[in-house]
Amino acid sequence: MFTFILHPERNKSLLRRHPWVFSKAIAHVLNLSDEQAHQEQLPEAMLNDAQYQAKRQDVAAGELCQVRDSSGKFMAWCHFSPYSQIMLRVISFALNDKIDYEFFRQRLQQAITKRQVLQAQGNDGVRLVAAEGDYLPGLIVDRYNNVISIAITSWGMEANYQHLIKALHELLPECYLYERSDGKTRPKEKLPLRRGAIDYTQPDPTFNLCDIEGKPLKGSQQVTSVPMPQSAAATDSQQRISVDEAIAPTLYVKENNLVSIPIDVKEGHKTGGYLDQRQSRLHTYKLCKEFKELHGTGPTVLNCFSYTGGFGLLALKGGAAKVFNVDVSAHALEAAKQGVVQNHLDPGRCKFIKKDVFAYLREEVQKGTKFDLVILDPPKFAESKSTLVTACRGYQDINRLGLQLVKQGGHLLTFSCSGLMSEELLQKIIADAALDAKVDAQIVATLRQDRDHVVALPCPESFYLKGFDLLVG
Ligand code: SAH
Repeated sequence: MFTFILHPERNKSLLRRHPWVFSKAIAHVLNLSDEQAHQEQLPEAMLNDAQYQAKRQDVAAGELCQVRDSSGKFMAWCHFSPYSQIMLRVISFALNDKIDYEFFRQRLQQAITKRQVLQAQGNDGVRLVAAEGDYLPGLIVDRYNNVISIAITSWGMEANYQHLIKALHELLPECYLYERSDGKTRPKEKLPLRRGAIDYTQPDPTFNLCDIEGKPLKGSQQVTSVPMPQSAAATDSQQRISVDEAIAPTLYVKENNLVSIPIDVKEGHKTGGYLDQRQSRLHTYKLCKEFKELHGTGPTVLNCFSYTGGFGLLALKGGAAKVFNVDVSAHALEAAKQGVVQNHLDPGRCKFIKKDVFAYLREEVQKGTKFDLVILDPPKFAESKSTLVTACRGYQDINRLGLQLVKQGGHLLTFSCSGLMSEELLQKIIADAALDAKVDAQIVATLRQDRDHVVALPCPESFYLKGFDLLVG
């Protein structure tokens, strides 16, 4: 068992139960017997004994190991990520935990159970597992109707692929399993990209490998059919169905018993869509409803970075008089259009504009257009610390333009999903934007990722999506 020994004074964040250990904090590595590794405290002499010394290179990617403070006291079980600055990710702080199939099944079950309340409130799309937030760093599990969409972003979870798939199938036998481990973080960890349906009878991480565009890699077996999930219709578990038949190109996923949002698990962003904005979409619905009750007619809404039109649907449902959805993706806008029809809402009240939001906002400011409600939900502008400054400029630009488009007494809902952007910094940027725009605005509500995107208390990095509801004028 490989045991990482920390430098003196580098145990503070682990004591606070933060689940990451940076490579700089690690002094050296020991190779211990199982029995030695199960001692709470190692004898001091052992720490520098040449016979136990090992090298980082000896440890396999994703291997279960342990971390101890500089005195040799046990701190946590973790998984090794050789290519990341976050070299160790904690899986348990309990020395007596056995990190086996049952362990993962239990963690998954606990996370899934906690989401039942959201499902009972009329949500068929929920994040069942939110990585660090659910004590499973590197694992995202989203449910869209009867499709489970999984993204694995760490070597530790990759190494436990079989356990995870087996447990997910056992806990959710009525669901198809799909994988979207094709995001930007995997190449940084030197993990191969994978996208496709998972056959739970044959969970194999070498299947469904793909390139950066999601195209199947030559030589990697692609799963084209899967066993039928357990349901009244299919009692014979041997019965198979083609992936194309099993998982529709567009799923309509009920949200807060109000509308169904179009989600494309196979080709869409992330695991298919943005469940994290559920609460803010509901906020939009309420604002529109209030407005209509007060004024007799619904508000005009500009939905920037609309993707498949989630905010727009909730606005329409709340009584918006007109919704303008703007996005660069024709594919997303087409889905948004279909979404309006599927929800029996009036397509005559919607516009779908394929355009760069920056250019669109500038043009409308020039024209002097005004809306009752403007929504700015941009993609992550800051990918790393080095891009944060440029990102801040981007946020300031769109917020300045966005604020100029809001009528007196109207609202701007503005967001940042950059983990590196703190709520405080975002507020400063928007305050500057308001000064530039020469408008007064007040924060009337703070907005954030919805409750299934749980934030680990000791890990502020897991709070990534923040926003404000600003009252203009
Ligand atoms: N609000 C959406 C999620 C937005 S995701 C929801 O609730 O589901 C960000 C979207 O911004 C993506 O659809 C992407 O296509 C779009 N996008 C990124 N850069 C853009 C730009 N410069 N102009 C217009 N759209 C852009």
